[in-house]
Amino acid sequence: MEEKIDLLIRNASELLTLKGENKARTQWEMNELGIIKGGSVAVCDGKIHAVATDEEIEWIVEVSTDTKVIDAKGKTVMPGFVDPHTHLIFSGSREDELHMKLEGKSYLEILSIGGGILRTVRDTRFAGEDKLFETAQKVLDRMLNFGTTTVEAKSGYGLETETEIRSLEVIKRLNEEHTMDLVATFLGAHAIPHEYEGNPDGYVNLVVGDMIPKVGEKKLAEFCDVFCEQDVFSVEQSKRVLLAGKEYGMTPKIHADEIVRLGGTELACEVGAISASHLMESSEIGIMEMALKGVIGVLVPGTPFALMQKEYPRARYMIDSGVPVALATDFNPNCWTESMQFMIALACYNMGMLPSEAIVASTINAAHAINRADEVGSIEVGKKADIIILDAPNHLHIPYRFGGNLVETVVKGGEVVVERAESSER
Ligand SMILES: [Zn+2]
Repeated sequence: MEEKIDLLIRNASELLTLKGENKARTQWEMNELGIIKGGSVAVCDGKIHAVATDEEIEWIVEVSTDTKVIDAKGKTVMPGFVDPHTHLIFSGSREDELHMKLEGKSYLEILSIGGGILRTVRDTRFAGEDKLFETAQKVLDRMLNFGTTTVEAKSGYGLETETEIRSLEVIKRLNEEHTMDLVATFLGAHAIPHEYEGNPDGYVNLVVGDMIPKVGEKKLAEFCDVFCEQDVFSVEQSKRVLLAGKEYGMTPKIHADEIVRLGGTELACEVGAISASHLMESSEIGIMEMALKGVIGVLVPGTPFALMQKEYPRARYMIDSGVPVALATDFNPNCWTESMQFMIALACYNMGMLPSEAIVASTINAAHAINRADEVGSIEVGKKADIIILDAPNHLHIPYRFGGNLVETVVKGGEVVVERAESSER
């Protein structure tokens, strides 16, 4: 039976459906983009109504005078990017630290002269709710322009109960008022604030005893994250935080083994984390456990890039070992990028990932990493119509033409929310 539809995107040179089993993709599955050449997508009531070749679609749906039709000839159509790891909420910026990094100053040296994360914490504590909202809103506008349609956002620059709650309330308000869909993560255990210097257990007591119960009761976060690292939070302290979060209904996430092989990867598996991030120094056993438990490895290649490091996480080894891998920007004041397209390029050039693997990692696997795969991450009937159109004849152009923006049109929940002039990038 033919049915009336609101939007029809037709005849894409490549339609990447990412169709597949409803689970995070691993190994060879990470190569499967579900490409339909000459593909068309029909949208009805904000949802994907039909996916087929251009010849078939006319038999399935009815185009009326009210239907918006977009001709995608010569273009690539795919699901909107999902960015599953960002530190969206903060005030200020740290562009001047680039000079110090170029002079060879280490992160700890920059921290010791009042820069780094503690500077952002100061700025964030002083910023009111509206200021935090406005800063984040602009970032989300740019992310949307780059084709991201769902974003995970963490608190973590308050490091005191009041500002952590305020940060999460800003995320809630952004989710209600901005076109972007946001998923909130509580990261009170991001660093040790100066007032608890030398007393990390005291700060963990505050996170576990005061922040988590309040965040839990207000239902402000779906996930609880921790920065498990040497001289920050130990494996034991991280475990306390994650288990306390779990008691209040927050699923564990973790920043694991970024600088030192501490055992955060193994902890992720032990506490049933949905994902573990960074993983620069993860052990072989930890990686094997992640594969067995299906813990998603959220890799953030922008971070070593911004830190001017030569080493990147071992994505190739992780994929071959069976870990479901996702990509994220890790957007934060020390890694300021809004572009998942750039992450795909870095993943290919510096981590040995194939373009198809990097696209799976930026869409369906990223959706699994934030528990949104039932709604987004692929172009399949019944899912939210979050679709992007790229001015490129095939998906290989995404990493190939790095550093720019190939996204021409963004459809969010069935509505065209970004429509850029065709000539703007030429
Ligand atoms: Zn992070």
